[in-house]
Amino acid sequence: MRLILLGPPGAGKGTQAQRLVEKYRIVQLSTGDMLRAAIKAATPIGLKAKDIMARGDLVPDEVVVGIVADRIDEPDAKNGFILDGFPRTVPQADALERMLAAKRLRLDGVLELKVDEKALLDRVTTRIAQMQARGEKVRPDDNPEALKTRLDVYRTQTAPLIAFYGKKGLLKSVDGMAPIGVVTAAIDAVLSPEIAVRGG
Ligand code: ADP
Repeated sequence: MRLILLGPPGAGKGTQAQRLVEKYRIVQLSTGDMLRAAIKAATPIGLKAKDIMARGDLVPDEVVVGIVADRIDEPDAKNGFILDGFPRTVPQADALERMLAAKRLRLDGVLELKVDEKALLDRVTTRIAQMQARGEKVRPDDNPEALKTRLDVYRTQTAPLIAFYGKKGLLKSVDGMAPIGVVTAAIDAVLSPEIAVRGG
């Protein structure tokens, strides 16, 4: 199973990705997590990404495309993967298509978590407060200013992927405003026809 999770910051991509990982025994490939790991390890990519990410802007396409290309070649991705946070631009989606074609792999679907933009700010604000209450370190881009940039970037650069994958017949949209379990059930429902066809 090879999936893409699409949705704005705070849509619940990470939560749903974890559930899909357990259910389908696939790996979650989060470009945000990979970039944060690179920053922590102070690699050249990390150094390049640090300030860009803190502002809420996008890291250059060629950087993330390179990271993903290497990552999907790892043995643990053989059984399938769920891309969380990638692609985020049309050029990234084009690059992914070329990458998968070269490896003779195909995508099973693109899950879009549809959320009301007004609710996102509240969700992220709540997440920040909860993390602070638990004494956890808050992400440098989880602040109102960077969040606004992240939402703007989503609207202008990432949302066009909805039509992009819609035209290819791969898009499966789910209401991301419902409670977590309901969203999970809706995802299972949109994915199950694929599984029936593939006999697994
Ligand atoms: P969220 O979905 O909450 O915005 P992520 O962890 O997916 O958070 O991403 C955090 C940041 O990492 C993004 O704002 C961006 O700077 C960088 N990033 C992650 N994935 C990509 C990508 N595919 N292309 C460019 N930048 C990315």
